[in-house]
Formats: sequence, structure tokens, C-alpha cells
Amino acid sequence: SIKGLEVINIINKIADVISENKLYLTELDAAIGDGDHGLNMSKGFEAVREKLVDDNGENLGNTFKKIGMTLVSTVGGASGPLYGTAFMKAAPVLNNKSEMDLDDFINVLKASLDGIKMRGKAVAGEKTMIDSIEPALNSLIESKEKGLSIIDCLDNAQKAAYEGVEKTKEIKATKGRSSYLGDRSLGHQDAGATSSYLILKTIYEYIK
Ligand code: ADP
Ligand code: MG
Ligand code: MG
Repeated sequence: SIKGLEVINIINKIADVISENKLYLTELDAAIGDGDHGLNMSKGFEAVREKLVDDNGENLGNTFKKIGMTLVSTVGGASGPLYGTAFMKAAPVLNNKSEMDLDDFINVLKASLDGIKMRGKAVAGEKTMIDSIEPALNSLIESKEKGLSIIDCLDNAQKAAYEGVEKTKEIKATKGRSSYLGDRSLGHQDAGATSSYLILKTIYEYIK
């Protein structure tokens, strides 16, 4: 299992990766949106980093609640409330837990995805973050059923998320700002699906 303090380290690592990819995410969003996804995400995760300085991960439910509330309150764009809801909905899964095993991780991702779908009223195939998160969750469940190790499960999940990101290029946006472009959103990769993939990849890179 992953200890609470390691979960905090992973969140900080996610903040690093999001900041490193700020320009990339912004460029993706600029093509079919308003070009602020990198800025929104880095602003949100830098605020999260500050909020967690004296958190040792002894109650990950509280940690996730704090992360969710910070993202909702610091990020102006659509992604703030969506990622914020994801963490807040995942918080009860981790209530009073100071570590996470594979089942916790699956339940966290499932609650997060449900939260995002509820908040944004979107489903898979609309060119959003759901298009990388849902395949990752499905892959995680499948890998677990095959009896794979947590590392291999997370590796398959991040690979499925990557494929999901690639597929967003072939999808016409029907949710979010890029939906205003209609067919002109075709051929472009979704920024939110990309940030979700980066988050999942960072978790795998840390655990492996
Ligand atoms: P904004 O569009 O308000 O500028 P961001 O640029 O930070 O916000 O985030 C845009 C991303 O949010 C999109 O690339 C998409 O993945 C995601 N998104 C937008 N609307 C929805 C929705 N209804 N459901 C799920 N994800 C969405
Ligand atoms: Mg934007
Ligand atoms: Mg915006």
C-alpha cells in the first residue's frame, strides 16, 4: 500500500509536473479554447502545495477534502470545479485512512469520475477529461481482476489514459468551450484529458 506521507509527496510531484507542463497545456487549450488550462491548473496545484505543507497524510480523507476545496476556490476555469469535485467526492473513500491500497485507488478514481460527470453533466466521447479518466479506471479494474501488481495496474491505467488523450483528436467537442467550435474542434487534443493523463502518469512514475 501507499503510505499517507507518500500520497502527499505524489500530490507535490503532480504540482511539479503540472507546472512543468503549464505552457504545453495552455497551448492545447489555446487551439480550441481560451488558452488558460495550464495557468489554471498550475495556479490550483501550487495553492494545493501550500495548503499541504503541514499535512503528514494521517487522514487522507481530510487531505483530499482540502485539495478539492483549494482547487474549487483558486481555479477560475471549468477545470477547477471539476477537479475540485473529483477530490472532494473521493475524500469519503479515504476517511480516517493513513494509507491507500489498490482497492482504495480504484474507489478513489471511481468516485472522482462520478463527481466529474455529475458536476459537468458530460459522458465519455465528448472530448473532455472524462475521455482519459474513464479508460484509465476501466483498465485499472481489468488489471486488478487479472491479479496484476499495483505497479502494473497503474502502468496499464496511465497507458489507457494516454490512448484516451490521443482519441480526443478524433472527437468533436460537445461540452466545454471547445464545443463552440463544433467541427473545428476536430484534429485537436483536449487539454483537460491531457492534464488528467499527466496526473495518472505522475502517480505511476512515483510508485514504480
Ligand atoms: P475553461 O474552459 O473554463 O477555460 P480550463 O481551460 O481550465 O477551463 O479547462 C478546460 C478543460 O475542462 C477541457 O479541456 C475539458 O477537458 C474540461 N471540461 C470542460 N467542460 C467539461 C465538462 N462539462 N465535463 C468534463 N470536463 C470538462
Ligand atoms: Mg481554458
Ligand atoms: Mg478559461
